[in-house]
Amino acid sequence: MRVQSVRFGRHAVPLARPVSDAKVATGRQRPLSRIDVLTCEITTADGIAGLGFSYTTRAGTPAQFAHVKEVGELLLGEDPADIGRLYDRLLWAGASVGRSGVATQALAAIDVALWDLKAKRAGLPLAKLLGAYRDSVRVYNTSGGYLQAPIEEVTEKATQSLAGGIGGIKIKVGQPAMAEDLRRLTAVREHIGDGVPLMVDANQQWDRPSALRFGRAVEEFGLVWIEEPLDAYDAEGHAQLAAALDTPIATGEMLSSIPDLVRLIDLRAVDYLQPDVPRVGGITPYLKVAALADHARLQVAPHFVMEIHVHLAAACPRDSWVEHIEWLSPLFEERLEIADGRIAVPDRPGLGLSLAGRARDWRLDQVEFHLNGR
Ligand SMILES: [Mg+2]
Repeated sequence: MRVQSVRFGRHAVPLARPVSDAKVATGRQRPLSRIDVLTCEITTADGIAGLGFSYTTRAGTPAQFAHVKEVGELLLGEDPADIGRLYDRLLWAGASVGRSGVATQALAAIDVALWDLKAKRAGLPLAKLLGAYRDSVRVYNTSGGYLQAPIEEVTEKATQSLAGGIGGIKIKVGQPAMAEDLRRLTAVREHIGDGVPLMVDANQQWDRPSALRFGRAVEEFGLVWIEEPLDAYDAEGHAQLAAALDTPIATGEMLSSIPDLVRLIDLRAVDYLQPDVPRVGGITPYLKVAALADHARLQVAPHFVMEIHVHLAAACPRDSWVEHIEWLSPLFEERLEIADGRIAVPDRPGLGLSLAGRARDWRLDQVEFHLNGR
């Protein structure tokens, strides 16, 4: 079976309301008002199509789109089952711009489409193609806990999330005034009670002393983890923090290459590694990182993109957490089923996703390649 056509689309998916994390509170970034998505649809002669996507926030998708416009044609006529070989081919075609960041994040859309296609051809959900350990994964909500929301809104959203079957709540911290973080955290813990799993996310805004001070101040909260307490590339700092605190440490979402994530594993800098399929360059590199993390007896709690990560978390030996952020949901026809603190792995073949009709409204650009130029 050969690849007959490849189509890439560049979309801007608006958020219902802009959100702010600590990077906004400290003036580093502007509020986030949309997610930019690069889609990839790969079709074979028998008409089966694979759907993949990558994303960026604030900047980067136009560059990803330009990259796949250059290398995407290499897929035509190839056997889409040979994912490893094709990934290498595309990687080396763009090796001049490196094996991380924008170039490999562009390849992520292709890689995800190839895995989706392979699972569809096998008639299996992706989790089962990879080798599933379970048919549902634990899920916590993030989207209700951003910093622009007054605390009354955060607690109300937490109530809604828990009522909707979500099993844990994460809130943003890392504001210039640590006392304000502690005030909000105390309010949420009192509101949801001691039994509900609770996480915090500082989005890289502390230096090492501040992170240690915060970590010591919140040990009594019994948090599931403290996320991104330090700069994403400060692996040694995370290792020191993980050794000093009882509360687990989580990070990894910003890292865009296998070596960057493996460094966290080697230094035992985290208790929960948080790779992100689009950011690390696709399912192929993600699986390598996740296997190494599991071998090191770490938990893998993927970042964002629950639509892909539900499958990968189900195929990971340790039962960890997937992040509930519903921002990409409008792009797809299907909805994930959430109950009893868990997301069910879709039983449809592949990722179990198809682009919604309204995705066209958000499309800014498109390019298509056909075998024999048709
Ligand atoms: Mg985070």
